Amino acid sequence: MKKITTNELTERLKAGKIKPRLRSKLRFNPDNIENWEDMEFIAVFDQNHKEGVILLDNSNHSYVIPFNLTTGLTNKSTGRSNAITCDFCTTWQIGKRAASITIINPTEPNRTFGFLCCTDLDCSSHVRNKTAESVLSRTQLREDLTVNDRIVRLKKNLIKIIENTNIQSL
Ligand SMILES: [Zn+2]
Repeated sequence: MKKITTNELTERLKAGKIKPRLRSKLRFNPDNIENWEDMEFIAVFDQNHKEGVILLDNSNHSYVIPFNLTTGLTNKSTGRSNAITCDFCTTWQIGKRAASITIINPTEPNRTFGFLCCTDLDCSSHVRNKTAESVLSRTQLREDLTVNDRIVRLKKNLIKIIENTNIQSL
């Protein structure tokens, strides 16, 4: 991703038809992200880490994808938290780092789409082996893909999610 400013974020949120209620809640400081060029997407959250938008640049297209996040996935019969594999980056995550994400297409608000994901949505760092979770995941899944192959897989998964949710580019 190319670094975007707070003003550019505002423009993107308007162009992406993000509701003012959500826009006003988002916490974004572009300087808190050190490695923009190593990010396939950026998640901007609200204060409670429950709602936000995903900013995604793919070839010449930009997308803004609003979401709700539910953390602490537990198995109803055992009460234990469930481990998941992220639908974005394919990282295996223990229950407390796992979430389900609901994507709402702003132009089709009656349709919602659910996926499983890393709670931090820092999938770009996980595929690059920059996190403890990514090292654990490789062991759990017995995965020997290169970092580059994992980046390619993340990009493909993002394209699939855009297609499935029918989010239009800006
Ligand atoms: Zn992930």
